[in-house]
Amino acid sequence: MPRMRAVQIPSAKAPFQMVEREVSEPAAGAVRIKVQACGICHSDEYAKEGSRPGITYPRVPGHEIAGVIDAVGPCVLGSEIGQRVGVGWYGGHCGYCDSCRRGDFVTCSKGRQITGLTCDGGYTEFMLISAAALAPIPDALSATDAAPLLCAGITTFNALRNSGARPGDTVAILGLGGLGHLGVQFAAKMGFETIAIARGKDKESFAKKLGAKHYLDSESQNIASELEKLDGARVILSTVTSAKAVNAVLGGMGINGKTILVGNPDQPLEITGRLLIAGRRSISGWPSGSPIDSHDTLKFCALTGIRPMTEVFPLERAPEAYERMLSGKARFRVVLNTGL
Ligand SMILES: [Zn+2]
Ligand SMILES: [Zn+2]
Repeated sequence: MPRMRAVQIPSAKAPFQMVEREVSEPAAGAVRIKVQACGICHSDEYAKEGSRPGITYPRVPGHEIAGVIDAVGPCVLGSEIGQRVGVGWYGGHCGYCDSCRRGDFVTCSKGRQITGLTCDGGYTEFMLISAAALAPIPDALSATDAAPLLCAGITTFNALRNSGARPGDTVAILGLGGLGHLGVQFAAKMGFETIAIARGKDKESFAKKLGAKHYLDSESQNIASELEKLDGARVILSTVTSAKAVNAVLGGMGINGKTILVGNPDQPLEITGRLLIAGRRSISGWPSGSPIDSHDTLKFCALTGIRPMTEVFPLERAPEAYERMLSGKARFRVVLNTGL
């Protein structure tokens, strides 16, 4: 039996372990992927800390996977050995719950698989995954560039394109980290009047290089009133985890304005009914997407030249790479490379 290296979490809150495992054959409906790159997402913390129900251990985390199909199991149509493919948060669905029967596989309630949480993910050299979870990677994108697009990318892209904002509308992106630096690029390329909001004056030129028309510094400016001066935002895409930072922008929603959370705030939000009612404003959330949404994200990036900024670590330095992600200092997405 050929063997492979994998980085696993032996139990909740335990340190990562580099282990050798057998490379196994894909079951019916599944493929084996030779992993080339895997991004490290803040949500990998769920597996590391065991802070979400339904995780069994040991678990290989990682849901921003780019690689090549290496073996195809029985009963798989449309996947071939040698195809470049990506896998994101979506790892499979049951096919029979009400959501699945409506074609809304991302909210599957009975047999939902989440890559790197309910099944093993991409901190490894080879992995098995349902063929339904695959998104083809366009030639223009390297594995390292494609990987972060499969969670940070699809989440911001899909939230924005389904937000109801139309070309020319004012769209603000709160936060300029792993998700935010992609959100600004997407918003600009989708034709929105793009406002980047982050901490510190020093990020302004970078935000404008990414395509932002305006930059607001949340350390020195009152964001809500600055947004009001720009007639209010049609959409505010919040990529941050600080509830305080989110609360500070809510008053900047314009008429029919919508705040969409893709980052999970660390506290309940403070919002008055009057703000929502008077201008038909709303707050909602957006959860990633399905593999065809990943495919659309990758194609849009190939088409428009959008790329994530990455810091690359070899697989064996996964613990250090994970700490780098947690520190919030990475510019902007940490990606593991297997060298395969
Ligand atoms: Zn993620
Ligand atoms: Zn289902």
